[in-house]
Amino acid sequence: MEGAFLGTDKQLQDMYQLCFNIPKIELHSHIGGNLRPATFLELAEKEGISVDHIDFYNVTLKGAFDIFAVVGKILNSLDVLQRVIREIVEDYSKTNTRYLELRSGPKAFGENTKEDYIKAVVEVLEECETLFPHITVRLLVSINRSAPMESNLEAYELAKKYIVDEKCKYIVGLEFSGNPKDNSFEDYCENIFNPAREAGIKISVHTAEIEDHHEETEKILDFKPDRLGHCCYMNEEEFKRVAELEIPVEVCISSNVGTMNLSTISQIKHIPTLHSMGCTIIPCCDDTMLFNTNMINETFELVNMLKLEEEELKSILNKGIDAIFDDEVKALLASET
Ligand SMILES: [Zn+2]
Repeated sequence: MEGAFLGTDKQLQDMYQLCFNIPKIELHSHIGGNLRPATFLELAEKEGISVDHIDFYNVTLKGAFDIFAVVGKILNSLDVLQRVIREIVEDYSKTNTRYLELRSGPKAFGENTKEDYIKAVVEVLEECETLFPHITVRLLVSINRSAPMESNLEAYELAKKYIVDEKCKYIVGLEFSGNPKDNSFEDYCENIFNPAREAGIKISVHTAEIEDHHEETEKILDFKPDRLGHCCYMNEEEFKRVAELEIPVEVCISSNVGTMNLSTISQIKHIPTLHSMGCTIIPCCDDTMLFNTNMINETFELVNMLKLEEEELKSILNKGIDAIFDDEVKALLASET
């Protein structure tokens, strides 16, 4: 092609339209980072919590955890939780996202237990099937490296109960997240991730989010999670292992620009590297509220970054279907794309 990729207004417009039309899957979406901004502000005001210290135009890794701290205070009842999930599902549905894996750790609100939290999620996801029939929504239970071990053990036991014992279709796996500066993946293997794997529970792990964490990255790759998130700061050897192990990677362009302190998307190198090595990459939002993004935007940025033609984009999104944790809906999704 002559000139710049997507050089004309018409090319840009057509590609944006395609990114809207094409059925999408979202596999990396934190409930706490995906509130509607208006809902976030409304709830913060209602609780009398100041958000003046937050710079919404430049959300860094620290800024992200500042926002999560506020969300922790305003997302304080099962009613609010269900409202927030309903809104998130509606917004994803509007971007023609057909499959969505949300992620969150169960919390105890007042009289309500952590199990009540899981039950409330299941109840609202069931309701969303009727409200938004074109999107399938599932939950990954978070193991949070910034939370006490006891609380994570409880989250794991609940996940196991709903996934293995009750075969609840709405809960489909575990994910490992939290502030990457706290604790290490290895600390959770013996009591959570090894037994979870033995029980057949699928696991996605935030990996190489910050620099110089190669020791942890090596341990994560030794474990071989079902999916990885981010993989921003890997060395050549680590990229090679991801490709050899054929682990799909959830890539979050807007989020990476913020947390890696970059000024432009073109400074992101790990996503083109993963793609060039033949890895399965799945464009995801991470936190729509924090990074002012959505699935159309993330898909469009990926197209631009990798200079994808329509067929290449379709092929990338199709490969992503294999990486979803609900095996029951893979065939349906594949038939729609
Ligand atoms: Zn994340």
